[in-house]
Amino acid sequence: MTDKKRNGFIESLKDGRSVWMDGEKINNLAEHPDFSGTLATINRLWEMLDSPKEQKIVGFVSPKTGQYVHQSFLVPADLKDIISRREAFTLWSRKTFGVMSRLSDYASSLITGYFIDRDQFTKYDPSFSEKTEQYYEQARDERRIITTAVLDPQIDRSKLSAEQTDPDALLRVVRKTEEGVVVRGAKMIATAAPYAHDVIIMPHQKLSESQADSAYMFIVPLNSKGLHIVCRESFASQDQEKHPLSAQFDEMDAVLIFDDVLIPWERVFIKESAEGVFQAQLHQQLNVLAHHQTVVRLLTKLQFVAGVATAIAQSIGADHYLHVQEKLGELYTQLDSIEALLIASEIQGAFHRDSVYLPARVPLQTARNLGTRYYSRAIEILKQIGAGGFIQLPSTPIEKSETISPLLKKYYKGANVDATTKTALFQIGWELVGSTLGSRHDLYERFYTGDPVRTFAQQYDLYEKQPLKKKLHHFLENISERKEKHEPSHSVYSTPS
Ligand SMILES: Cc1cc2nc3c(=O)[nH]c(=O)nc-3n(C[C@H](O)[C@H](O)[C@H](O)COP(=O)(O)OP(=O)(O)OC[C@H]3O[C@@H](n4cnc5c(N)ncnc54)[C@H](O)[C@@H]3O)c2cc1C
Repeated sequence: MTDKKRNGFIESLKDGRSVWMDGEKINNLAEHPDFSGTLATINRLWEMLDSPKEQKIVGFVSPKTGQYVHQSFLVPADLKDIISRREAFTLWSRKTFGVMSRLSDYASSLITGYFIDRDQFTKYDPSFSEKTEQYYEQARDERRIITTAVLDPQIDRSKLSAEQTDPDALLRVVRKTEEGVVVRGAKMIATAAPYAHDVIIMPHQKLSESQADSAYMFIVPLNSKGLHIVCRESFASQDQEKHPLSAQFDEMDAVLIFDDVLIPWERVFIKESAEGVFQAQLHQQLNVLAHHQTVVRLLTKLQFVAGVATAIAQSIGADHYLHVQEKLGELYTQLDSIEALLIASEIQGAFHRDSVYLPARVPLQTARNLGTRYYSRAIEILKQIGAGGFIQLPSTPIEKSETISPLLKKYYKGANVDATTKTALFQIGWELVGSTLGSRHDLYERFYTGDPVRTFAQQYDLYEKQPLKKKLHHFLENISERKEKHEPSHSVYSTPS
């Protein structure tokens, strides 16, 4: 492989983007210590598309270029294609233990979903179909990294968008020109924005037709002039030996500030249509191809936490206690539940518009909702098992501690592991339960799929409730009929369905 190809992703970020960290604009993202580990990880993942051993799992051959492109762009024709997409997501997520989630395979799946249904949106914007087809092919063939940002800033959530007193509280178009529209406002949170190429932007709240200036859907290049990418504090560590997760997998979260950004017409997908952007947002919220990816990644991460918890319990002999076995059993129940839902979604899938096979929505939605609670519970269990061991870690490595090393080896060892292995295990555990990276992940798993209060309520909203009530009504009718005839009633389960 040539150096040019190898460094294609890193080089592509030297594009004039405006990334802010600690009050300063970053000049060279690739060489910045807070990003170098994460970027190297992403680069390695994309390199798989050029590796003869892995490209057939991660990718498929583009009908346009003959080059391997990512499976997230595959339009699934049957169950086999869904499994093939799952294998690609699994391979990628295992490389980061599910810790990195916005590697573009989620957002690329959203784009594939829009591409499949592109004709449905022409009633809101006649250009949608053509622009989506062009963008889908460009993103797929140029290996563009995509992310999403849907929410307006958390200024006053008690007010609807139309009630906000500051006109810039809601992203809006302030000017139209021959080249495109000029946009002002902000969006949160855009994970991966500092090193992605494009971001999908649309309103989150339902707008009224009088809010035409905000009723737009764009896919914005992240190097657009006037677009400021404001990073949170970095959680990246420079010490890979001590903090292997933080050193390699700190995917950055950012707020996007649009300080009068020109968005070219070819990137404006829906224009001045409140109903159009509402349907586009709904499509994103219900996009089963993207949800399928998130559930694969969730399973990988839960497997990782369960693996760490098991190894830690065994390393200190805590696995001999019944309550620890019960807690580990709970973690394995989480894994089997999510895996069962994933498989159910695949085999209960159905043909969509005749030629596309999509996974079933309900099992994926259930898995995503469970994930918002499972991950925090898994971390709680990990804390209960490792206990004080996460804090008694020596700040100096066991092997390198000169004269005190023999004593460290003696007192930091475990029931069946030496001090070096046990310390390394607990270091990873600490990164999950106690580090800034770990806290970010607890918050991420609770919220990345939306506010869980509203996502569970959405499950109520969309659930097929009639069959649940049918049997009950039958039972109640049966009781009143029997009462009239003074006969004993049947059990609910013995009534004919
Ligand atoms: C680490 C991390 C990474 C993320 N990455 C991305 C990303 O890449 N792209 C992206 O688009 N989003 C991302 N998100 C954002 C995520 O979608 C939101 O956090 C989530 O939708 C909740 O919105 P919010 O944070 O604005 O909370 P808010 O909506 O402000 O909620 C705050 C509190 O108020 C309550 N509340 C507010 N409004 C209502 C209401 N109308 N009805 C009922 N209760 C209400 C909520 O229940 C909650 O308790 C990320 C979030 C996190 C934490």
